[in-house]
Amino acid sequence: MKELVLVGGGHSHVEVLRRFALDPVRGARVTLVSPTRYTPYSGMLPGLVAGHYAFGDAHIDLESLARFAKAAFVCDAVVALDPGSKRLRLQSGREVAYDLASIDIGSTPLRAGITGSEHAIAVKPVEDFLARLDRLEARAREERLAGVAVIGGGAAGIEILLALQHRLARNARPVAFSVVADTPTVLPGHRPRVRRIFARVLAERGVTVYAGAGARRIDRSGVETADGTRIAADAVVLATGAAPAAWPREAGLAVDARGFIRVGETLETLSHAGVFAAGDVASMENHPRPKSGVYAVRQGPPLAANLRAAAEGRPLSRFVPQRGALALISTGDTYAVATRGPLVLEGAWVWRWKDHIDRKFMARYDVARRDRE
Ligand SMILES: Cc1cc2nc3c(=O)[nH]c(=O)nc-3n(C[C@H](O)[C@H](O)[C@H](O)COP(=O)(O)OP(=O)(O)OC[C@H]3O[C@@H](n4cnc5c(N)ncnc54)[C@H](O)[C@@H]3O)c2cc1C
Repeated sequence: MKELVLVGGGHSHVEVLRRFALDPVRGARVTLVSPTRYTPYSGMLPGLVAGHYAFGDAHIDLESLARFAKAAFVCDAVVALDPGSKRLRLQSGREVAYDLASIDIGSTPLRAGITGSEHAIAVKPVEDFLARLDRLEARAREERLAGVAVIGGGAAGIEILLALQHRLARNARPVAFSVVADTPTVLPGHRPRVRRIFARVLAERGVTVYAGAGARRIDRSGVETADGTRIAADAVVLATGAAPAAWPREAGLAVDARGFIRVGETLETLSHAGVFAAGDVASMENHPRPKSGVYAVRQGPPLAANLRAAAEGRPLSRFVPQRGALALISTGDTYAVATRGPLVLEGAWVWRWKDHIDRKFMARYDVARRDRE
């Protein structure tokens, strides 16, 4: 029997577990290590922040999913990997031996170049973010919150800003919102039409946009940008690009220039046979893609197939990720913008469509519901 350890219950691993539940893997004992029992689904995160979804709507119960897959569930975080002895060290000090390991631990916002980033509320880890939002909401209710600045002008930053503004609008005193982007415009990776729609929405909602100079310093009174502009804010939300955990690099796994684990088309690491990686933490050689949940989800089936093949001693298969993906970006209320290639659509119906897609996705991993049916 091989020991197969899944590190992190990210978007790829939930699909691996679901597939192992439906078709048990022979020749391996499976263990999932996750610091939390519930893992958030990224697509519903803005809706959760805005108050359109409850916690349970937007989280997958990993312990139940693991039980369904006959996998052991260890509620802990991996802090180190020793490829020599094939052991993982957990935060509690416990060690777990592996023959095969797969890493799907996501990413956290980039802090490089920003001093005082510890004063900001980072959007990941999501469990910490949600807890801090509750405290922020309490401050708004007590009228102790006048301004919020969001650092990061990508889709995640804009969606979270609009969602947070929607949530706090329930409180009496209006809160001033601003966004800081180190790119010439917000949503730089998107088509001009998408940028025009969001410029309109941000203007309608009174959001001040500081583009062209990133945040250089965060302190208790707000943000200072690289060109010396000072933005007063009682709370600063960090939604910058993705950064990886340090321990995979420290373990000696081959990583790219930013520290993400280099994997080939089999999703096996380039440096260590039997160690796989997927999702944000992985960097596919020759197939760079944005750090987005869509790509992590798509890696689930080929990762499951290759972990099964490795456990059974069969050759691994190759996988090439799709080039583009449909992006559905919400505007805080129940309205959204859909974009793929030249196609750009907006409306309340786009939100309903997104809601339908997201709920359908979540239903796949709802073991309790499966038991009821
Ligand atoms: C605000 C926001 C909104 C977003 N909206 C979208 C969207 O609408 N669509 C989209 O496609 N993408 C979106 N993204 C991007 C998306 O969140 C990520 O690309 C996606 O979550 C990556 O999935 P993953 O499987 O790599 O990791 P994750 O889904 O982040 O999961 C990682 C898991 O690993 C666990 N973990 C972390 N460290 C350890 C450790 N040391 N040991 C064990 N377990 C660990 C975590 O607890 C977590 O459960 C958004 C991102 C943000 C910040």
